[in-house]
Amino acid sequence: MGPKRCAVASEESLMRIFTVPEAPDSTLSRIEQEISSNLAGFLNENIAAIEKPLHEVEKDFQSAVIPEVPMFVSDYAQDIMEQLVAHSVHTAAPSFIGHMTSALPHFVLPLSKLMVGLNQNLVKIETSKAFTPLERQVLGMMHHLVYGSDDAFYDKWMHSAKTSLGAFCSGGTIANITALWIARNRLLKADGEFKGIGASGIVAAMLHYGYRGLAVLVSERGHYSLGKAADVLGIGRDNFISIKTAGNNKVDVEAMRTKAHELEAQGIKVLALVGVAGTTETGNIDPLEEMADLAEELNCHFHVDAAWGGATLLSNNNRHLLKGVERADSITIDAHKQMYVPMGAGMVLFKDPAASDAIEHHAEYILRKGSKDLGSHTLEGSRPGMAMLVHACLRVIGRQGYEMLIDKGIEKARYFAELIKQTPDFELISEPELCLLTYRYVPEQIKAAIAQADEQEKIEIYAALNRFTASMQKRQREAGRSFVSRTRLTPEQYDRQPTVVFRVVLANPLTSESLLKEIMDEQRQLAMSDPVFKKYLAKYIK
Ligand SMILES: *Cc1c(COP(=O)(O)O)cnc(C)c1O
Repeated sequence: MGPKRCAVASEESLMRIFTVPEAPDSTLSRIEQEISSNLAGFLNENIAAIEKPLHEVEKDFQSAVIPEVPMFVSDYAQDIMEQLVAHSVHTAAPSFIGHMTSALPHFVLPLSKLMVGLNQNLVKIETSKAFTPLERQVLGMMHHLVYGSDDAFYDKWMHSAKTSLGAFCSGGTIANITALWIARNRLLKADGEFKGIGASGIVAAMLHYGYRGLAVLVSERGHYSLGKAADVLGIGRDNFISIKTAGNNKVDVEAMRTKAHELEAQGIKVLALVGVAGTTETGNIDPLEEMADLAEELNCHFHVDAAWGGATLLSNNNRHLLKGVERADSITIDAHKQMYVPMGAGMVLFKDPAASDAIEHHAEYILRKGSKDLGSHTLEGSRPGMAMLVHACLRVIGRQGYEMLIDKGIEKARYFAELIKQTPDFELISEPELCLLTYRYVPEQIKAAIAQADEQEKIEIYAALNRFTASMQKRQREAGRSFVSRTRLTPEQYDRQPTVVFRVVLANPLTSESLLKEIMDEQRQLAMSDPVFKKYLAKYIK
């Protein structure tokens, strides 16, 4: 859509956009008022309920030419309401239960605006001042949540120029890369003539230490970001070794031990074990205590990826589920998942305050030695003051508030699991440990057909169920009333064959029990009209 009126590029109009706010009755100001007074209402009204296909949306974003002529802000605001906002995803809706991010508390909106207005850069104190101690305090609080060191420890280290207790970053991916970067540099440290991997690179490091390679071991349910970390750190994706899970989607530590010894016998050093505390697909927590024992045995780094599940530590009633986490050398926690902070807030915490020395970088004009600049211990350079929003949530919600949110989510998942089990045409695939579960829709007569089927028929029915589940999930999303996600597991119930399942995350406090019933009703109706069902499965219904 072209500009309705042409603005003129002039010094005067440029000065205006830097100095004069939009008029109170302008389009943008009206949007601002609406989101301030009623965000949920604004999202409900302005995000289209029915999906427009992506190839249609793309038509509004075709030109690769930077617009020559300026545009009035009001015209622009009008355009994005129609082209962008209308076709975004209503992630805050109580019926949107497919992903790890959900509704936000209201107060983060004006605070985000304040953060953007201040535009601090956390890379160094010169551009962030009080934001630096605030971020260090947030890292200190999260460190205390995980490791619970004493006051003297935090007095000594939290604001120390020499160290940092963690690194604040844009998300779990960067946090995981940072953790494994530290593990790698500590293992392949300077030694005599060898200046360390950071200076001399991976080839020199392997030659010096006499390793034939490095490996990172993680459950088959590990997050794909760990594979990226293995890639960028020169470890190699093939050396990022996935270990099968025992029952309940938790890594089989004995299998991990066997594999680790096998690798070390081949001259491949195990750099790190990664425990997952809340897997992305099923929400289960690896046996962290046993993994810590194994890491000690192997004398390797123990990292816990608690990007999603780490917030469980805020609940005194449920933190025991992560027992052993306090023995991890590093841990990833995303504030933008179960801590209800807007996107772009991840953290990695280090047990040993000296750990971050391994990735310390200094530069003369910036990040001078002895400064308290956070940029000398982070992968990212310029960073916004997102820690302020984590700080706000920790203060405003408080540990007790988080405890209620976390506990409610888990209770709701248990309720939903019970409901699924009591409904004959549904099937629970993975029991919730945290607020995440997986299930599918399988009519009783199909279940009976599977029980009587021979091997060949079984394979056919399994394949049909997979296509059917995927089709239902897509049609539910397109209908726009509710959203569950889907993933592929290898559950016992289906002879460990690849099995497509619905996945739900019940973190939004506004998702009610009656809404969960409605979602099941909607799914049953979708199933009846599903083309894949009609084609491949209807014949089993007598
Ligand atoms: C989400 C997630 C990540 C990645 O975090 P981003 O913030 O998306 O970069 C890593 N590990 C686990 C277990 C996650 O759930």
